[in-house]
Amino acid sequence: MVIIQSIETVSGPERPVPPDARSLVPLVRSCRRARETIPAGGGKLGASGYDQIMLAQPSAADVREYLTQAVALAERNVAAGGGPFGALVVTPDGTVHEGVNRVTRDNDPTAHAEVVAIRTAAAESGNFDLGGAVLYASCEPCPLCLAAALWARIDRVYYAADRHGAAAAGFDDAVFYEYFAGTRPELLPVSHTPVPTSGVPFDAWRNNTERTDY
Ligand SMILES: [Zn+2]
Repeated sequence: MVIIQSIETVSGPERPVPPDARSLVPLVRSCRRARETIPAGGGKLGASGYDQIMLAQPSAADVREYLTQAVALAERNVAAGGGPFGALVVTPDGTVHEGVNRVTRDNDPTAHAEVVAIRTAAAESGNFDLGGAVLYASCEPCPLCLAAALWARIDRVYYAADRHGAAAAGFDDAVFYEYFAGTRPELLPVSHTPVPTSGVPFDAWRNNTERTDY
């Protein structure tokens, strides 16, 4: 998957995709089972299927600048009583859309900085597809935020601090990665339990000629 492969640290030597990040790929593919096969060499899913595109490639100076901004957002959010996370989504027109962690402020466990930035970017650009955009996060995105970036068709992700720094501060990012790596299944039992009407919503979707594909 192109998007996960694009995750890399900015400072220090480049490193390959973390093995546990790879474990997310089958989950994502299973969500897209109805789509066509991913083309050799990667590809990107658009409303009409996988299309080969050029991924956004910011300069190293831009990456450092945006990450510094994301970290500053995170620091200010702590001062405002929130969690120590900030993120930016930069859309292809250069617009910067900000997000900070709002979990405790909004009583929303999904209001991670990256998710908030993605929601803001999509709302402000009037498009649920953020293809061509780049996500900058003050800390390594957790599985929730990676999945949100995938659904938003974000091109590329950069982050500053990593999951271990978050864990040292008391956050669960690292242990959730272990769940998706398959080593901590007890954290959340998930059971496939079909019922006779399981397929009806998909039939309705396929038969709806007015649908908006995504
Ligand atoms: Zn997250």
